[in-house]
Amino acid sequence: MYLADEAWPDLESYFESESLALVPLGSTEQHGPHLPESTDHVIAESLAREAAARSGYLCTPTVNVGISRHHRQFPGTMWVSPDTFRAYVRDLTENLTYHGIDRVVYVNAHGGNVDALREVAKDLHADETCYALEWMWDESIPELVDDLFEHNGPHGGPKETAMLQHLTDLVHDDRLADARDGGVRDIWSAEGTNRHGAATFFDARDNSDNGVFGDQTDATAEKGERLFEAATDQLVRLCDWLAAREPEELLPEPRV
Ligand SMILES: [Zn+2]
Repeated sequence: MYLADEAWPDLESYFESESLALVPLGSTEQHGPHLPESTDHVIAESLAREAAARSGYLCTPTVNVGISRHHRQFPGTMWVSPDTFRAYVRDLTENLTYHGIDRVVYVNAHGGNVDALREVAKDLHADETCYALEWMWDESIPELVDDLFEHNGPHGGPKETAMLQHLTDLVHDDRLADARDGGVRDIWSAEGTNRHGAATFFDARDNSDNGVFGDQTDATAEKGERLFEAATDQLVRLCDWLAAREPEELLPEPRV
C-alpha cells in the first residue's frame, strides 16, 4: 500500500488494523559518469514499495535529498545538513505516530544517512514516541554482495550499477569501463586515505577523480534482479518480525 495513492477512508482502515510504516530515504548526488543522481532514492523507493506491495504494509513517499555534502564537488549533487535532515525525519515520523503508527522502518540506500537515522531512532525510542529502525539494503545481504562482485565498491560500484540496470533504463552501459578506470577499484588500497590510524579524507573527491569505487563492468541486470529479490525478501521478513512484536516489547527497559 502506497500512502500517496490512497484515499483517506482506506488509510483509516489501514491504521485501524496495522501500526507499521516503511519510509524510503535516499539521496540526490553524483554516482559517477555512468549512473543517475537518483540512484540511492530509486533503490530505496523501489525496495520499500515492492516490500509494501508484497506484505500489505504501508509505504510513505520518499525522502529524496539526504546528507551528501561530501559529494558536492561533482555537478548536481544536492544536500541538506545533518541537523536539518534529522529534524525533518523526526517531524515526518511524528506525523505517522499521530495517525497511529508505532513502528517504522527507514528503508535507506545512502550511507551518508545512516548515522543520522540511527540517532533519530534512538531519540524516538528513548522518549517513547515510537520504535524506528534504520535498514540499509546491502547490509541485509552481505554474503550475496560478496559472492556476486570481486570489487563491490562502497559508492557507485557494481552493486548499485546492477540494481539500476534492473530497475531503470538510466544506466550509461557504454561508460562502465570509464567509470572503473577513472575511479578507484579498491577503496582500502587507495593512497592517502589513512595515516597512522586516522582517516585523512573528507570528501569523495579526495579519493576518487570521477567519484566512484569498485569495478562497474562486473554489473548486469540479472545480478541486480538477484540483489533486489534477496533484499526485498529480507525487508518483508523484518516488517513481519516488527509487526509481530507486542507494544511493550518496543519500549525502553524500566529503570533498575
Ligand atoms: Zn549510492
